[in-house]
Amino acid sequence: NKQVILSKYIEGIPTEADMELKVGETIELRAPKGSSSFLVKNLYLSCDPYMRGRMRDFHSSYLPPFVPGQRIEGFGLARVIDSDDGDYHPGDLICGITGWEEYSLLRSSNDLQLRKIQLDDDIPLSYHLGLLGMAGFTAYAGFYEVCSPKKGESVFVSAASGAVGQLVGQLAKLHGCYVVGSAGSNQKVDLLKNQLGFDEAFNYKEEADLDAALRRYFPEGINIYFDNVGGSMLDAALLNMKVRGRIALCGMVSLQSLSSSSQGINNLYNAIPKRVRLEGFLQSDYLHIFPQFLEHIKGYYKEGKIVYIEDMSEGLELVPSALVGLFSGTNIGKQVVRIAKE
Ligand code: NDP
Repeated sequence: NKQVILSKYIEGIPTEADMELKVGETIELRAPKGSSSFLVKNLYLSCDPYMRGRMRDFHSSYLPPFVPGQRIEGFGLARVIDSDDGDYHPGDLICGITGWEEYSLLRSSNDLQLRKIQLDDDIPLSYHLGLLGMAGFTAYAGFYEVCSPKKGESVFVSAASGAVGQLVGQLAKLHGCYVVGSAGSNQKVDLLKNQLGFDEAFNYKEEADLDAALRRYFPEGINIYFDNVGGSMLDAALLNMKVRGRIALCGMVSLQSLSSSSQGINNLYNAIPKRVRLEGFLQSDYLHIFPQFLEHIKGYYKEGKIVYIEDMSEGLELVPSALVGLFSGTNIGKQVVRIAKE
């Protein structure tokens, strides 16, 4: 059973050398009798920025750290091969937390955010890790539940072409908002404007002054900032918020590798006279609306109202580089790795 293991706890941005492909133990392709577990063959693995937080020896994170020498775990899509759990049967497709390995023995009593997947000819299976998975749900819950959007409002999204950002922008457009996204390459900017329907987009790496860039696109200010990056972009957005604006603090990918999460924020004072609401959130707080999310987003997708961009790598040996790429922006869209045929 080939596995990707964490070699050692990391500092700074993860590198491929922090992970290792290991030919694990030979395993029997069976779920042991009486174990209440089930054995799955992993088909697709998801790479997500939050995983970086689990690669550090840092216990106050909301998820426990990985253990050096042991396989990394994350969201995946898998097929049940054998089962000693009455709720899961051979052939079932499941999505949830699984191992970065060919086969995983899972126990549904562990909190794996497990759900069964029904095949749908109109929707690629891997989308259950992106559009219909944690990333898509983060966009949906964050936009509707945290941002309190109104028709006609101006919305700014950072890391806008990524797994979460691309859906936030499209939902905001469907809601009747004016939407601008920032991204780290001209190719991504082109994607935002020409495929994802953003009104405007800019390459933040080409802007010497982020405040000036935001003033250019939002001369009357920003009602909603959906923040995926933190740092200097959040600081610039604070200067450009409208009175009673909302900032959804979704993630801080620019800071995840630094020790001080407040680095780069000088303009927080602006939130007071402008009565800006800043709210951090975790998608897991909103799981009660997951069924509603699935119904809405599947509908939008099938009606052609939204599209979804995926970045697919092939092979278990490429999972480490795919994860590392999230922190320099090599991914274009949701980063997924196919490790076995459906
Ligand atoms: P993405 O698909 O957007 O991938 C990460 C992107 O971040 C990269 O492609 C890159 O895009 C951008 N990036 C990387 N480094 C930097 C940097 N130093 N400064 C600015 N941008 C950078 O990831 P996701 O959509 O999966 O996640 C987006 C955010 O949402 C993350 O912060 C993540 O932690 C957060 N999140 C939060 C959840 C919650 O419950 N609160 C749940 C899921 C995700 P570019 O080329 O444009 O720079």
